[in-house]
Amino acid sequence: MPESPEALYARVTASGLNRTDVAAEATFPWQVVDGTLEPKPLAPPAAEPVARTGADGCPICASLPTERTIWENDDFFVSRMFRPSGLLILFLQTKQHIDFTELDDDLAAATGRWEVILCRIVERLPHVAQTYVIRFGSGAEHLHLWFVARPDGFPQIRGSLGLEYDEILPPIPEEVLGPDLHEIARELATHGGRARV
Ligand SMILES: [Zn+2]
Repeated sequence: MPESPEALYARVTASGLNRTDVAAEATFPWQVVDGTLEPKPLAPPAAEPVARTGADGCPICASLPTERTIWENDDFFVSRMFRPSGLLILFLQTKQHIDFTELDDDLAAATGRWEVILCRIVERLPHVAQTYVIRFGSGAEHLHLWFVARPDGFPQIRGSLGLEYDEILPPIPEEVLGPDLHEIARELATHGGRARV
């Protein structure tokens, strides 16, 4: 079961926050100028687009089936986050190497159905306020939708900047995360497919 706000606060207060190197990333949009946080200047248009991982060397295809998978059916699988995370984060992915905009109507409909089912299941967990659904895909073309559970009780952890707490908060202990993943997988399987944890 997810921690209560009080339990999460106590754990984080005891272990402290992680310093991240997000400010060193090229996409970090701010910089300190004379002690003031200012937007970085917009760089001129790049000559080449940022390459996305295609079918050759696709890490998602290469890792199937993966130990991170918690549920699967013939077309999709749901995986846990690929690194220790301070937030409950899951991915809905296709088994086929296909980009989001290449889904045919049947797979698009099924994607939408599993999106809603997964959101319902995660939001029924205690102390989960909301589930964010995100399609980035800037790094890899293989369809992978992010599902980020926003913890209840922390107005500071909201919206796009709230995602930073994935790395700022100490990782969710496995004894907390494991039972949640089991419950999510079990609930998914009541709608079809197979639980893997
Ligand atoms: Zn792939």
